[in-house]
Amino acid sequence: MPLDKEFILDNVGEYTEEAVTWIREELSDKGKLYVAFSGGKDSIVTAKLIEMAGVDHQLYYNDTTIEPPAVMKFIRKEYPQCIWLRPKHSFFKQIPKLNPPLRGAKWCCFHIKKIPGWKIKLDQRVLGIRWEESSFRKQLGRSQLVNIGTFRSYYKREQNHMHYHPIYYWPTWAIWEFIEEQKLPFPHLYDTFDRLGCVVCPMRKRANMEKWRKIYPSYYRAFEKACAIWYDRRTAQGRTMAYSCVEAFLEAWYSHKVSWYDKEFRDLKEEKEKE
Ligand code: SF4
Repeated sequence: MPLDKEFILDNVGEYTEEAVTWIREELSDKGKLYVAFSGGKDSIVTAKLIEMAGVDHQLYYNDTTIEPPAVMKFIRKEYPQCIWLRPKHSFFKQIPKLNPPLRGAKWCCFHIKKIPGWKIKLDQRVLGIRWEESSFRKQLGRSQLVNIGTFRSYYKREQNHMHYHPIYYWPTWAIWEFIEEQKLPFPHLYDTFDRLGCVVCPMRKRANMEKWRKIYPSYYRAFEKACAIWYDRRTAQGRTMAYSCVEAFLEAWYSHKVSWYDKEFRDLKEEKEKE
């Protein structure tokens, strides 16, 4: 699906002017805004645009416990005004209980990413997400009502969130030109990676994970240790695992081939497929 022509602008100056005007028109009367800040290039640009527009806001950084240390150091130094949020239990601590996350079972995005932010009582939220990033994001739009619905027990509030995406239509080149033009600092990890985020993540391709492993091997050691605890715990409970040992499981996990943890479920599925 190509982007509508009206959202394609000629230069970064036009993108900047359009975004600042949009923020002032849409968000000036919304009270204090929660600005999700990850330390990545898109949130750096979003934070600057919000500042330029002069609207009331607070930056929040969600430390998922598997964030790149270089990014955390960058935020501490360059954005001391940013408030840090953390989940109750770390990613590694939750694996033995909730299973290693999979592409189709990303409990971590909920437990370590969303819940800490949901506890903040600011419902008007600004995020640096962009149309071109994924087919899922192409469906969101520049403003989005987020129904907290079934998660209210975590959120402990009735009200839903409103999400705003000021840089929704920005292409990547405009993001980097803006950073250069405004002389904004950014994490040096961009010399190696196009995108930052959680160091160990089921959404990463294997080759990309290997690059991260070289920089932060202790994160991968901790992940494998947590998986070993999880595997031992399940076998001690009498479950028959779909993989003969944790090493075989990890090999499948890194290759994105895991669809079942337990042998009985895998066999059941194979039987159904034969019918
Ligand atoms: S980005 Fe990846 S590792 Fe981080 S919370 Fe989401 S799925 Fe989990």
